[in-house]
This record gives sequence, structure tokens and C-alpha cells, in this order.
Amino acid sequence: MSTNSYLQLGSVEVLVVRKPIKNLHLSVLPPAGRVRVTSPENMKDDAIRTLIATRLPWIKRQQGKFAGQERQTKRTYVSGESHYFFGKRYRLELVYKDDVPAVFLKGKNKIILQVRPKSTIAKRHEVITEWYRKQLHPVVGNLITKWQKKIGVQTSYWGIKQMKTRWGTCNHKRARILINLELVKKPITCVEYVVVHELLHLIEKKHTEKFVSLMTKNVPKWRSIKDELNRFVLSHEEWKH
Ligand SMILES: [Zn+2]
Repeated sequence: MSTNSYLQLGSVEVLVVRKPIKNLHLSVLPPAGRVRVTSPENMKDDAIRTLIATRLPWIKRQQGKFAGQERQTKRTYVSGESHYFFGKRYRLELVYKDDVPAVFLKGKNKIILQVRPKSTIAKRHEVITEWYRKQLHPVVGNLITKWQKKIGVQTSYWGIKQMKTRWGTCNHKRARILINLELVKKPITCVEYVVVHELLHLIEKKHTEKFVSLMTKNVPKWRSIKDELNRFVLSHEEWKH
């Protein structure tokens, strides 16, 4: 159980989450550099305020970093740009050809985006997004088949969707699972972790102790995979699943 409240320190707004824990934990969250403090339940606002004040220079530095990263993530789909595919970085090569748009990998680290001359950024984004979707779909399908058998559950529906704040969702009652398209940019281990996580919600709706122990039983290293997944989050608010 936890309770949320807000504190204002100059221009910095701090979300305070009180939980039954021993130590104060401070984090700056992408993309806007929101500040969150997790604190022991009985800690007074003034004490938290004083502690945060000593960490303000660090907070400002983190916020500055996010601001820089956010600028880098604006994609225009021109040659030389970096794009990720299953955890690996590729260099984009934009090719104009009066033919059906296509995307393909070339050599070790090139991703070719072939579009008609005068294609807009929006069109290029659409072409690559559809390609990503086509690549991710069978991967997720195989993982779902594999893990449904292992765990002993059955979805009534699963799909891939571009989502803003979640890696995956599970409708426990209807046995429906959605996996975020953004995962196509992450290593397969991350995709697998999210698939297993959502499938386990078919057994256990909430993040209870039982859920955590099921997670650990099936994917022993899930905590480090989760950290990896959230480390590179740049363009979205705090991610959940
Ligand atoms: Zn969950």
C-alpha cells in the first residue's frame, strides 16, 4: 500500500510516495524530468523537503540530461540516423525509388528505407512503423505459444499496439493481452519478459507476492531485464505493465 502527495521546492515539483520502507529513494523520471521520492510512511514533509534540497543540483543535472536526450529522439528518417531493432543499433540509409515502399536490413548494421521520391517524414515514419510491426508480430506469437504451454494459460486474443506508458497490458477477465510495438527496439529477452509478465496476469491479476514469485520462477533474471527495459526510456513517461 502507498499514498501519494506533492511537494513544491521552487520550480521543482516532487511526487512523494509513502510506503512501508526504511530509506528514502529519489528518482528523476524521463522524459520531462519529473521528480519522485519514495519515503518511509512516517517521514514528515519538512524532513523530505530538507533532504531533497541537498540533492537539487543532482536533480537539475538529471533533468538537463533528459532534455538533451529528448532532442536526440526526434526522428526524421534521413541517412545516417540510428534506429534500433531487437536491441541492436542500425544506421538508416534512405533510398528514393519510384516503387512500393520497403524496408530491409543490409550487411551487419544497415537498415534500408526505400520510399518514393518526395516522401514526407510522416510517410517514412509510417513505412518503418509497419515494417517494425510485421517483424515483431511473429516473434511475440512464438513467445506466447511457448509460454502459454509452459505456464498453462490461454489468451482469448493478443495483439501489438503502440502505447505511450505501458510495455504491455493484460485484461485478466477477458484474457486479452496487448504488447507494445516499441518493444521491437529492445533485445528479445525484454520482449520475452513482458510476454511472460502479461501471461502471468492471467493467473494473478495484481502484482502480489504470488505474482512476483511466479515471475521469479519463470524468468529468474526478470529484475535486471526490467531495469534494462526502463533504462533507455527516453520519449515517454514512467512505464508500467
Ligand atoms: Zn503487471
